[in-house]
Amino acid sequence: MTPPHSAHDTTDRFLDEASRFGANNYKPLPVVLERGDGVWVHDVEGRKYLDMLAAYSAVNQGHRHPRIIEAARSQMERLTLTSRAFHNDRMGPFLRRLCEVTGFEKALPMNTGAEAVETAIKMVRKWGYRVKGVPEGRAEIIVCSNNFHGRTTTIVGFSSEAQYRDGFGPFTPGFVEVPYGDADAFESALTDRTVGFLVEPIQGEGGVIVPPEGYLARTRALCAERDVAFMADEIQTGLGRTGRMFCCDWEDVRPDVLIVGKALGGGVYPVSAALADGELMDVFHPGDHGSTFGGNPLGAAVGEAALDVIVDERLVERSAELGAWFMDELRSIRSPHVKEVRGKGLMIGVEILASSGTARPFCEALQDRGILAKETHHQVIRFAPPLTIARSDLEWALGEIREVLR
Ligand SMILES: *Cc1c(COP(=O)(O)O)cnc(C)c1O
Repeated sequence: MTPPHSAHDTTDRFLDEASRFGANNYKPLPVVLERGDGVWVHDVEGRKYLDMLAAYSAVNQGHRHPRIIEAARSQMERLTLTSRAFHNDRMGPFLRRLCEVTGFEKALPMNTGAEAVETAIKMVRKWGYRVKGVPEGRAEIIVCSNNFHGRTTTIVGFSSEAQYRDGFGPFTPGFVEVPYGDADAFESALTDRTVGFLVEPIQGEGGVIVPPEGYLARTRALCAERDVAFMADEIQTGLGRTGRMFCCDWEDVRPDVLIVGKALGGGVYPVSAALADGELMDVFHPGDHGSTFGGNPLGAAVGEAALDVIVDERLVERSAELGAWFMDELRSIRSPHVKEVRGKGLMIGVEILASSGTARPFCEALQDRGILAKETHHQVIRFAPPLTIARSDLEWALGEIREVLR
């Protein structure tokens, strides 16, 4: 057992340990966090930072939200894991709440986002064969260029990011890529074998890319016309992040399959789900699909509390109001480095001009000033704080961001 560290420990010791014993698959900012409260996190050297990444939107409710921690704590004292071989008394209430909040008939609980995406792919393929009548083994799912849906071998197989695929093949066939934001290209790619369209309503890891207005509504309508399942990956954009409960709500789009994760776990525990109505979800029969941890009582208790906090604390409305104001303020910064500020709600990307280098040094400068943000896709600084953030904290952050971008 490692003894609790003393005040003499330095960041370097933790960085050394992480690099000696950990795989080298991430390049984090050189900050070692040991405590989080709401929107603030503290490092091992006693410095305090505003968390403007919020674990890629998995901490929409803020760090250690008391209501979510209490739900987890009291559940841990009763029952944590049963597997789906038996029922537990928390899964039903959680799934009922999730269906109420999302407006779908049924939910299939998993753990990580990638698993929920895989669940959606399996659901839609089987629906394609059994209901739509596509010849066995011929189903196609249309995906978008610059997508991010997770890291399994099937999912990276349809990534357009060379590094995500390099060295990991052979890949699962049956995916067709079209340019993101181009509804005509989508329409041209539809065939009799198309069973689904998998899309992020805003591309998060792709650099906070907002598609043209009307794109979601038009592709949704084309899916309905051609009997294709519209699958919205709202793992990052969902649960209030963009100023609506789901980003598809901005265009009054109701997907056929809704994929949620990240903030569904309230920053405490991985909880994800794929949601659909009967016709799609009923393709699953006992033994078709599953997960040892999916729907476990601890995750269900946490997930239910995570949803309650978003609804009861009006985090969706906060995200819309604060996000609109914050984005206007960012746009008004006169900076020689900024190419564009874009996003919705509190999911905002600031794209740095190539002539000013990458976004990384800007993130490092923000870190020195007490703001944690992370570059995405080299040129973009993503600002996505917990939705519980106070306007005064955002005002303070703006002052620091202005200095860094000047
Ligand atoms: C994070 C993310 C995923 C993958 O979630 P994991 O929990 O990391 O597996 C999938 N889709 C989108 C849009 C995401 O942002």
